Amino acid sequence: MDDRMFRTAMGKFATGVTVIVSEYNDDIRGMTANAFMSVSLDPKLILISVGTNAKMNETIQNSQQFTVNILSGSQKELSMIFAGQIKEEREVAFEQFEGMPVIENSLVSLACNVYDSHRAGDHILYIGEVLNLNVQDGEPLAFYEGKYKQLT
Ligand code: FAD
Repeated sequence: MDDRMFRTAMGKFATGVTVIVSEYNDDIRGMTANAFMSVSLDPKLILISVGTNAKMNETIQNSQQFTVNILSGSQKELSMIFAGQIKEEREVAFEQFEGMPVIENSLVSLACNVYDSHRAGDHILYIGEVLNLNVQDGEPLAFYEGKYKQLT
């Protein structure tokens, strides 16, 4: 099995899109991620997977905190900014929630402490303990076969 076939197969799994945000020493870093899942209800745990080359690892490992922001259908541009798909630097406004930066107008923002982490091949899995969350109504941004999709 080659890498392309593996990527193509994984791309058949339709997902939402999140932006992971973490802050250390007043430096706020964001990264688009669709490798996100709910893990446990008691305690409330979620999981994200971050490539070992991503600068986000340093920020999360220093701060031991991150937020997961589930994007709405109108936030595609933010996903592109934090995936490096828009090359010019953009000023992004963050709100504070539980003392952590979150993306305003996300469908959901989860404030997490790092509960555990585990290296898995070329990614690092972070399990986050959810300290608090907020939820808004709206349609999600979706990702399927390597392309953004709107559900409506
Ligand atoms: P950087 O290259 O440092 O930053 C990425 C971009 O965000 C840069 O353009 C930077 O300017 C901008 N940025 C960062 N912080 C700020 C800020 N405070 N204000 C304004 N702009 C800022 N990778 C994974 O590892 N796991 C995944 O689950 C995953 N899922 C993805 C899902 C989708 C739909 C897409 C499109 C990409 C996904 N990626 C994923 C790839 C990942 O988003 C990119 O590889 C990412 O750019 C690498 O992260 P980095 O920490 O090195 O970010």
